[in-house]
Amino acid sequence: MKCIVRPLRTSNAPRAIFQVACGRRALSTAHHSDRHRPREQHIDRQGVADEVPWLAKQALHPLSLADLVRHGRPPLSAEALLSSARFTLSLLPIRLAHRIQALRNLPYIVVSNPNISKIYNNYQHSLSTLLPWQGRTISNLEDEIRFTEVLAELVQTHTDTIPILARGFLECRKYISAIEVTRFLDEHLRARIGTRLVAEQHIALHFSSTPHFDPQASPTPCPEHPSYIGVIDTALRPAATIDSCGGFVADICELNYGVRPQWIVDGEPDTTFAFVPMHLEYIVTELLKNAFRATVENGMNREPIVITVAPEPPLPPHALFKSPASSQTSTVRLDPPQESRGAFNPDAIAPLDDNAPGVTIRIRDRGGGIGSDVLPHIWGYSFTTFSDDPDDVPGGSSSSAWGSGDDALSVISAANSGSSSIAGLGYGLPLSRAYAEYFGGGIAVQSLHGWGTDVYLRLKGVGKIEQETVPKTVQ
Ligand code: ADP
Ligand code: MG
Repeated sequence: MKCIVRPLRTSNAPRAIFQVACGRRALSTAHHSDRHRPREQHIDRQGVADEVPWLAKQALHPLSLADLVRHGRPPLSAEALLSSARFTLSLLPIRLAHRIQALRNLPYIVVSNPNISKIYNNYQHSLSTLLPWQGRTISNLEDEIRFTEVLAELVQTHTDTIPILARGFLECRKYISAIEVTRFLDEHLRARIGTRLVAEQHIALHFSSTPHFDPQASPTPCPEHPSYIGVIDTALRPAATIDSCGGFVADICELNYGVRPQWIVDGEPDTTFAFVPMHLEYIVTELLKNAFRATVENGMNREPIVITVAPEPPLPPHALFKSPASSQTSTVRLDPPQESRGAFNPDAIAPLDDNAPGVTIRIRDRGGGIGSDVLPHIWGYSFTTFSDDPDDVPGGSSSSAWGSGDDALSVISAANSGSSSIAGLGYGLPLSRAYAEYFGGGIAVQSLHGWGTDVYLRLKGVGKIEQETVPKTVQ
């Protein structure tokens, strides 16, 4: 989602924004808060006050979806919008500081890599734009507009994180083990989902609310639909998302292979549920890329990919996706191997309602399935069998990108070509699973050797969102 914030009325713009505009670091300028918060003073090597250790020691607020919708359905009143801004501000600096601290905890040679250090600097920069807001109250709409501008910049700054991190960790693969990287990325990318969600939620609430009490405000570029609360669509229709993502992936296929596979949506395509459309789009695009690529490379272009949508009745929490102990060797296990999982992510957003209706989507392709030598690796970050070398047999490689220089080059080339690449980054499955699990869903892969693959995506809805869920104002 791209949001454009109204231009600043610059007369009393906070000093930090001015400094950022001038390209200077503003970490040392968090003077507003000094009077309010007793804390240890960390001074870095340049003699600049370092807020990170102090902030990173603070516990992460256990965020719930109720938090995201607590300010009510847009258009919000001015007071509710200010309250949303204050709540967002109370969360973000601590979340960013935790990420900066995690980056600092990586081996020095890894953080010194130009790509990893770019991400590190992005986090430092974003924190520096928020710190001047701490310790002051966002008490009028002028402040709120300026704060929303800071959030929009933050979201924009971190847009390209994934290919940059992918490239960085590949370049550092001699200095850090694949397990350490997976642990870091699992935690980092899951935390990133939450941080972006918090920022984007306020930005979307801002744009769907301000035109109602400020006729001067520019028209909203964000979806203004009655079923939206910020970035959550309370009546999201997965079949529509599948069709639009299918068109996008078919375009990429045409570009890469010169053929355009077909797809069919069946089951109950009129199903709707409450979910974050951006997350569903990401997951569906990645799963369709895999299915389309396998179909084409297996020479089965005439066989449509069949996507079945089934509404899921409320179930006891997590019942469906508990993998039985006996499924250790089964391909349908939903829990990844313990050693490949990151630490428990304390800032995952809890579902609003454990019994919320959800949806299961099965993507069935005739792409020949996944070989038993490949299957154990598919959830690893940077694992791919894609090669953009035309001499390579399609799908012929089964080694992890960590183990082979050629594979690494293929990943780096995918990182450079961005989202127009059909495959190659090796992040599609693990990151899709991170998105699905964020609200308590999951992804299972079932391969029929020589035939094709079924991918089951289960998403838990975010629950009933009613005006009554709006609690008292948060400070
Ligand atoms: P990438 O697509 O960039 O390779 P992914 O994480 O999306 O990364 O997938 C990892 C690997 O899993 C793929 O390279 C491929 O070998 C395998 N895979 C995933 N989905 C399928 C599928 N539907 N059919 C065959 N192989 C698949
Ligand atoms: Mg993929």
